[in-house]
Amino acid sequence: MLDFVFPPLCAGCGKFDESAEGICESCQKAIETFSLPICLSCESVLQENVKCPICADKVFPLFAYGNYQPPLQEIIIQFKFRDVLGPVKLLTANLVETFASKLQHLSADCLVPVPLHPQREHRRGYNQANIIAETLSPLLELPVRANLIQRTGKRRPQARLNFASRAQNVKGAFSITQKQSEPEKILLVDDVVTTGATVTELKKVLEKARHKVVGVIALAHGV
Ligand SMILES: [Zn+2]
Ligand SMILES: [Zn+2]
Repeated sequence: MLDFVFPPLCAGCGKFDESAEGICESCQKAIETFSLPICLSCESVLQENVKCPICADKVFPLFAYGNYQPPLQEIIIQFKFRDVLGPVKLLTANLVETFASKLQHLSADCLVPVPLHPQREHRRGYNQANIIAETLSPLLELPVRANLIQRTGKRRPQARLNFASRAQNVKGAFSITQKQSEPEKILLVDDVVTTGATVTELKKVLEKARHKVVGVIALAHGV
């Protein structure tokens, strides 16, 4: 009966789709996926050992499932703004399958979702990065530490800004909430990473508080 009122639709193309995943087979095939992480500091593609030939110790690996373009782009928009949560399970499972050994190699202690400004989270009802982190948590056997850091200043949405303004826009946007906590090795989690300005700022703030940010996991990477 419910299916009659709300027929199951593919989050990628909007066509009728009965699969449990919420993404039809042709959209699943159409997603341009990545098999290797990239370094957010210099854009190098990182090989098996996740070492950056340019940055050495300053390597900042991004593990992104796919390229931020349709149908993955549409799937993420549906997830972010229209509460379509179904496909997240499939995307995170595929992502972990692709990067499992490399992620293990980082020996992280916990996952930290990129926080939304509380007002924005309240309006939306949830933080999409948090949902991705919670879905990743059992797969990677890592706890989610969503309250370690918070967004303080209200900023303009990054999508409308160019590279230089993006870095400027997120400066001072985050603050540590638990000052006395033990240093941890952190994997950041977000839905989409573009220039990396937000996660780079987050890394800076967390590392000032003696944590170590070992990488970023995202559903998509785009420019
Ligand atoms: Zn589709
Ligand atoms: Zn690099």
